[in-house]
Amino acid sequence: MRKQIAAANWKMNGNYQQAEKLLNDILSANVILQDHQQAIFSVPSPFLIMAKTEVGEEGGYDVAAQNCFNKASGAFTGEVSVEMLHSIGINYCIVGHSERREYFAESNAMLAEKVNLCLQSSITPIFCCGEPLNIREANTQNDYVAKQLAESLFHLSDRDVQRIIIAYEPIWAIGTGKTATSLQAQEMHAHLRSVLAGKFGAEVANNISILYGGSVKANNAVEIFSQPDVDGGLVGGASLNAEEFLTIIRSLK
Ligand code: PEP
Repeated sequence: MRKQIAAANWKMNGNYQQAEKLLNDILSANVILQDHQQAIFSVPSPFLIMAKTEVGEEGGYDVAAQNCFNKASGAFTGEVSVEMLHSIGINYCIVGHSERREYFAESNAMLAEKVNLCLQSSITPIFCCGEPLNIREANTQNDYVAKQLAESLFHLSDRDVQRIIIAYEPIWAIGTGKTATSLQAQEMHAHLRSVLAGKFGAEVANNISILYGGSVKANNAVEIFSQPDVDGGLVGGASLNAEEFLTIIRSLK
C-alpha cells in the first residue's frame, strides 16, 4: 500500500512555547501508526530542532521544513538551505505551497531547482500543486496542474520521482472552510496519477502518495481520505488544534 500521510502545516503561527505544547499534546496521545501510515509536522524554522527532538524515534512521526531556498549556499540573507536542513536531521520539506507561489513569486522552474536540491540531500519534497478559483470556474484545472507537474517534476528519473510526495491543494479551498467534495478530490487525484503515469509509467505513478489539502478537518477527513487516489492530507488550520489533528491522523486509511 502507498504511504498514507497526515501532514500538518503550521505556517507562521504560534511561539516556541505554544509549539512545544501542541506537539506534546499530540504525541502524548500515543496514537500508534501502522507501517504504511505517517504523521509529519511542518513547523516554522526556529522550531525544527525542538520538534525533531520531541518526535524522537517515535515510529511514524517526523518533521518537515515549510520551505527551502533554490540555491545551495551563498549570499542569500535570511534564506535556509537544504544542506542546513539535512544537517539537523530533517527528512521532509514542503516545496511550492500556493502561499509561496503567490506571495514570493515562486515559479515552476524555481521549484524544480528546490526539488533537485532536496533530493540531492535525501530530503523528501512535499510538492504542492493546485489551481486558483478562476481556473476551476473555467474548468481548465486539469491542464493547469498538469503543467505544474510537467515544469517542476518531469525532468526527474523514474527512481527520483518516486521519492516525492505530491499535495494537491485547490487554492480556493485553502483556509476558506470551502473543501473540495470528495468526488472533486478523487477526480483530480486520479488525473494527477494519470499525468504521472503518462510520463513515468503506471507502476511508478501508483507508488507516489498524493495528499489532498484544503480545509481538511476532523469532521471531513475520513470521507476525503477514503477515496482510492487520496493518500492522506496536508492540513493547515485544523493542525493547530491537538484534538482535531489527532482525529485527522486516526482517519488515515
Ligand atoms: C494548507 O495551508 O496547506 C492548507 C491546506 O490549509 P487549510 O487546511 O487551513 O485549508
